[in-house]
Amino acid sequence: MSIDTNLKAIYDKINTVALSCGREPDEVQLVAVSKRFPVTAIEEAYAAGHTVFGENYIQEAEEKAAQLGGKCTLHFIGHLQRNKAKIAARIFDVIETIDSFKLANTLNRHLEDLGRSMKILLQVNIGEDEKKSGMAAQQTEQLLREIGQLPHLEVIGLMTMPPFTDDPEDARPYFRQLKQLADSLAGKGLFANERRVELSMGMSNDYHVAIEEGATIIRVGTAIFGQRK
Ligand SMILES: *Cc1c(COP(=O)(O)O)cnc(C)c1O
Repeated sequence: MSIDTNLKAIYDKINTVALSCGREPDEVQLVAVSKRFPVTAIEEAYAAGHTVFGENYIQEAEEKAAQLGGKCTLHFIGHLQRNKAKIAARIFDVIETIDSFKLANTLNRHLEDLGRSMKILLQVNIGEDEKKSGMAAQQTEQLLREIGQLPHLEVIGLMTMPPFTDDPEDARPYFRQLKQLADSLAGKGLFANERRVELSMGMSNDYHVAIEEGATIIRVGTAIFGQRK
């Protein structure tokens, strides 16, 4: 299957699933996860009309960003080390994986130097999975209050990666918990925009479930680009 065909199939499925649960399809943004695929794969998706991509590794993303020259929107979805925050501040449009005040503060400082601000999501380890990064659900409110004070960061929502399993239905309770957490924090006015709080959840095998549970951003790699080596 070509990237073009795969993208069309995913847009179709987003439409079908969103409409079947009473949501507007355009509330769901597709981030095409291009990690470990060459920039030619991004170019192919771009030629098919897709402009939003997700990357996990700073050095790889830096090279791709230079080649793309600003024509795409880039989300960082990997684990961000503080010593890479300076590069991240320069090359990304959205960072989805902020999980500590220290990291947020470092990023904010680099953004200040660059004279820009950044949209971020807080990564929540909703399944309390030891193998995953992210803040604990109980910490989220306090961190959101602290990080919300940093002038160059705009906290637009929450992101999660539930524990991995083969059955997409296993992810549903975690997606639901993230939605409930976001709703309760939005009720306290803690996000940059209360009328639109982003929920980044769902990948190739479970994005249909995530849409049913309220995802506004889905991160899909394999179903677009194929199996990573
Ligand atoms: C790789 C990755 C994805 C995409 O996973 P697929 O199963 O290839 O769709 C989504 N989110 C994160 C955080 C990832 O690291």
